[in-house]
Amino acid sequence: MGMVISCGRYAPTPSGRLHLGNARTALLAWLWARAQGGRYVMRVEDLDPDRSRPVYERDQLDDLLWLGLPWDEGPRMGGPQAPYRQSERGQRYAAALADLETFECTCTRRELREATLAPHGREPVYPGTCRAAVSHPDRPAAVRWKVPPGVVEVDDLVAGRLREDVVKDVGDFVLRRTDQAWAYQLAVVVDDAAMGVTHVLRGADLVASTARQVLLQRTLGLPTPQYAHVPLVLGPDGAKLGKRHGAPDITRLREAGADPRRVVAWLANSAGLVPAGVQRVEAAALVADFDLAAVPREDVVLAPGALDALG
Ligand code: GLU
Ligand code: ZN
Repeated sequence: MGMVISCGRYAPTPSGRLHLGNARTALLAWLWARAQGGRYVMRVEDLDPDRSRPVYERDQLDDLLWLGLPWDEGPRMGGPQAPYRQSERGQRYAAALADLETFECTCTRRELREATLAPHGREPVYPGTCRAAVSHPDRPAAVRWKVPPGVVEVDDLVAGRLREDVVKDVGDFVLRRTDQAWAYQLAVVVDDAAMGVTHVLRGADLVASTARQVLLQRTLGLPTPQYAHVPLVLGPDGAKLGKRHGAPDITRLREAGADPRRVVAWLANSAGLVPAGVQRVEAAALVADFDLAAVPREDVVLAPGALDALG
């Protein structure tokens, strides 16, 4: 057995402010890496030029430092795998793309939806339209991967065993968009491997991406990290926590002069790490006793007024 060098990471998308759910995931990822004595990498996933904003990157990183979750490598700190901003790592994605069997596709979302009768809001399974020849040579093309057949199985430390037939459930998926932006699925795989990430803790909303990523890793000859998909924080209506719930984002709490130890205590309590009576705690004080197995397997549904104590 080779030596296991453990390294965790947090990989925020700077398309908005961090909310309590994001901060909770960041806290858990940080604790997991620290509890194992591993490195902790910060990577900014600003692949989408239409949605990413430097101001969100700045606020999110300030928020994470305010919460007491510094990183060993990443933006502001540098490190051997710099740059840590995906918008600056395109050459690496291009090199990986060149190792994969791909084809150009000029189908629009709407055409694919109509061709597959996909229910609204569901990503259609790619019907193979452009596999042999592009449907509309006059249009700009996206690049899709010819997904190899087979069922992918992944053992997730929290979510359990995941099984997916990517050909059947997703089909040939996009690695580079029509506007030349790199797809998250490719970038995350290239970067986790390049940065030596051995432990990926992230929100359960990304369970659905994991088989695609593992298939890319296997095809590119890259190692598969250990995955742990943690439950989400939901609003009182059961939907993923967002602006409309009126929950304070972390930047707002920070700028309003809230005590970060109070916020960490709330996050830690919601993750089963401290009892409800704990009013304030520093993230660093949670490292010694951190146990991923103690984190509840169910999403946290906020009761109305649950956050009043924070502000
Ligand atoms: N950038 C992704 C997000 O903010 C996270 C990706 C990952 O952790 O793999 O949802
Ligand atoms: Zn097509």
